[in-house]
Amino acid sequence: MNDKTDGAHEKGHGFFTRLSHGGRAGTNVRGFVNVPVHRGSTMLYASMTERTAASLDRFEQKPHYGTGGSATHWALENVVAEIEGGTRCQIVSTGLAAVTVPLLAYLKAGEHVLMPDSCYGPARNFCDNFLNKMAISTTYYDPTIDAAGVEALFQANTTVLYLESPGSHTFEVQDVPALSAVARKRGAKVLLDNTWGIHYFQPFRHGVDVSIQALTKYVVGHSDVLLGSITVNTREDWERVRATSGILGQYASPDDCWLALRGARTMGVRMERQMKSAIDVAAWLSGRPEVKAVLHPALPGAPGHDIWKRDFTGACSLFGVVFRDDIARESVHAMANALQLFGKGASWGGFESLALPTGGAITRTAGSGAFGGEMMRLHVGLEDVEDLVADLDQGLAVLNARR
Ligand SMILES: *Cc1c(COP(=O)(O)O)cnc(C)c1O
Repeated sequence: MNDKTDGAHEKGHGFFTRLSHGGRAGTNVRGFVNVPVHRGSTMLYASMTERTAASLDRFEQKPHYGTGGSATHWALENVVAEIEGGTRCQIVSTGLAAVTVPLLAYLKAGEHVLMPDSCYGPARNFCDNFLNKMAISTTYYDPTIDAAGVEALFQANTTVLYLESPGSHTFEVQDVPALSAVARKRGAKVLLDNTWGIHYFQPFRHGVDVSIQALTKYVVGHSDVLLGSITVNTREDWERVRATSGILGQYASPDDCWLALRGARTMGVRMERQMKSAIDVAAWLSGRPEVKAVLHPALPGAPGHDIWKRDFTGACSLFGVVFRDDIARESVHAMANALQLFGKGASWGGFESLALPTGGAITRTAGSGAFGGEMMRLHVGLEDVEDLVADLDQGLAVLNARR
């Protein structure tokens, strides 16, 4: 049972306690520590009276029909709501669905959305190739814009200000409190993709209405499940998001939710270790002559560091490297090919390290993210940091041999 009232996000317990105890109490499961996998479509009732009562109350965490979720889904929803500091959470099939469902919930034909130039690529694709067909227009803005700058972009029909901080691939840190205040003044909803910030950025303390997570990343933590979450802090927002998710037929497998719950229990220690290793790797890279800039908000002097320090309590282990202007894309690809411990692939948040050259793969239309040199995105996993640095060192030797 989730009995939280609107805005009640101060729980008193620390992050690790919330990860350990969230989504366990009140689930009517006696005996075992973990909530079992509840599978099913049809729910049976003792009488029509009982069934009618259940269907009247579908916004509560009560069994109704498979698409409304089960104790397994609600356990995951509750632990995610706990770590995001919200009151209710809706689990959806993928992180991308957690982006598209709230956009559809808060936008209708004739309206306008403000999107950061650095948004997750498929979110841009959704705006340009789907929302446009519904007569919903998008303006992309420089993610480092200030309050006055964003206010100037508001139109009479702007109903959503979308944020993603730090941005995908280029890691611009947004001034979420200042930008959210403008949206509030203009009567628009604030949607934030908080996948990077996860618990280290508490969205509802900074004016956000809807917080999006790709649980696929650190919550799942093992690169073997896709899931998304949409967390809100008021009943009104909950009803809007829940209704749209239902209309669209969104559903997640209870087996996947169970795996994500298992991931959540150890996420705190994984993230602490990965944060530390990533900062060590980033600091080492920033001293290399091949590197022009390291885009890691937790690194002193890096872009966005001051806002990160003000608003975040930690950092995840995903960051970017910009190579010097005279280093060609094929040299960066040769380095990626030479790496033994960093896998070449998309996604992140798992236990394993990844390296992804991003030159030529990033779309920007509002003039942001122009760093000059070739770029590579690194995800630091749970390996020994000395081994990762040695691997990058030999990779850079290959890069230099190809110059
Ligand atoms: C990966 C990612 C998503 C989408 O998650 P999927 O589960 O892969 O669909 C959304 N936003 C950000 C910032 C991501 O990195």
